[in-house]
This record gives sequence, C-alpha cells and structure tokens, in this order.
Amino acid sequence: MKPKKHLGQNFLYDPSILRRIVQAAGISSEDTVVEIGPGHGRLTCLLAERAKRVIAIELDRELYEKLRQDEVDKDIELVHGNALRYPYEDLPEFKVVANIPYYITTPIIFRLIESRGNLISMTLTVQREVAKRIAANPGTKDYGVLSIMIQYYAIPELKFIIPKGAFRPVPKVDSALIHMRIRKSPPVEVKDEKFFFRIVKTAFSQRRKTLANALKVLSENIKDEIIMAGIDPQRRPGTLSIEEFAKLSDVLCL
Ligand code: SAM
Repeated sequence: MKPKKHLGQNFLYDPSILRRIVQAAGISSEDTVVEIGPGHGRLTCLLAERAKRVIAIELDRELYEKLRQDEVDKDIELVHGNALRYPYEDLPEFKVVANIPYYITTPIIFRLIESRGNLISMTLTVQREVAKRIAANPGTKDYGVLSIMIQYYAIPELKFIIPKGAFRPVPKVDSALIHMRIRKSPPVEVKDEKFFFRIVKTAFSQRRKTLANALKVLSENIKDEIIMAGIDPQRRPGTLSIEEFAKLSDVLCL
C-alpha cells in the first residue's frame, strides 16, 4: 500500500520512539485514549497495552479496512472518519495521543481545545518549528499568536525532537513531541476573551514595531492607554507576557 502524501502519511516504525511517546503521554490503566490517524496501528497497539480504552480514528479507508481485518487488538475501537469532525464532546475524560498528519496540525489542536470539557491532555508529534512556537516564552523569536492562544488553554511542554529520518517516507523537516495539559481555568482573567485575542493578533501582525505603533489602529489615545495598563508603549509586542496582554485588553475594552 503506497503512502498517501495528501493524507500526511509519514509513518513511525522505531519501537523506542513509539514507547517514548506513550511514556511522555503518561497513560495509565484508567485512561481513555483517542488516537488520531492510527495508520498501520503500531502506536495504537502500544497505547492499548496501557490504557483502559483506545479509540482510533482513521480517515483512509484502505488503512482502516486493513486494521479491521488484522484485528490488531479487539479492545481498540476503530472509527472510520475525519478526526476534525469527531464528537469529542460526547466522551468521558480522555487523553489524545497521536502522530498527527501535518496538514491538520492547527485545526485539530483548536478543534480539541474547543471541545476541551473532558479533555485532559494532548500529546502530539508536530513539526519541530510548530512545537517551538507553541511552547515559546516572551522575548524569544518563536513567541507569538500561537504561543498565547495555546498557553491560554493549556500548559505545553516540548518533550523531545524526532529527527525526520525516523519517519517513512522521510518528511522535509524534523518533528517534536509536544505535551499539552489542558488548564482547568485560564492563567489570566479577561473581561472579553474575543477582544483579548484580537489585541494579541493585532499586536503580532506588526511584531517589529513598537506596541504603540502596532496597536494604533485600535484607538487614538493608544499611547496613554498602554501606559494606563502599566506597560511601556515603546516595547515590542513579542516581549509582553500573557498577563500584560490581559491587562492591556481590559484597559482597551472599557
Ligand atoms: N500513527 C501512525 C504512525 O505513527 O505511524 C500514522 C501517522 S501518519 C503521520 C497520519 C495518519 O493520519 C495516517 O494514517 C492518515 O491516513 C491519517 N489521517 C490523515 N488525515 C486524517 C484525518 N483528517 N482524520 C483522521 N485520520 C487522518
């Protein structure tokens, strides 16, 4: 069966890497685990050895049929379908562990965040650069909208790098395993979440400018308002913490 590039089929065969993924996900015999894209089922089988319940969602009919016929493990609940459309809201508490296809990285993370009611954590193989952006701290070149949007809902931790040579076929770039534990509540309280994210996006759309310049489209008195939030308007957007963006958003949305 030829790997399908358009479905992001870069398979992992190395048993030691697969074991490290399961270990980093912290799976116990009480856990319900969702795997997105089981492929040939190698990671799936390791997950089934540890977890109480494994739900594996595969979009490729050929792979799905093969997994079904192989009956890799009778305890695995195989689902044929698109992981972006799965009703995660109906599950009891669950963890997601997956070597996800790159083309759905951001949509799948935000789909899961959106239905995070019973989600405990996501442990995902993503492109190395994306993992660095997700876990980045203020003042670094990787820090931006993605860092803040994910860190608002989860606590990310870059676990380890997976060199591109570990995948078949070999992709263009290295990957990394990122673990994201869902927060019970956001790290900051804001008056208006939508407005908070709008400020963050506007600020980073001109990240090289000073904060005052980057946000001047929002208000005529932007300099004074930034000072009112206790922030120096000459700073660059990339140096502000989530707490500082929250203060700024609360001053601006008055
Ligand atoms: N888990 C396997 C491994 O580690 O070797 C396969 C990983 S491969 C990177 C991604 C898998 O996701 C493929 O099996 C692909 O067919 C499947 N896939 C692609 N798009 C999907 C989607 N929207 N929903 C569910 N599965 C998808």
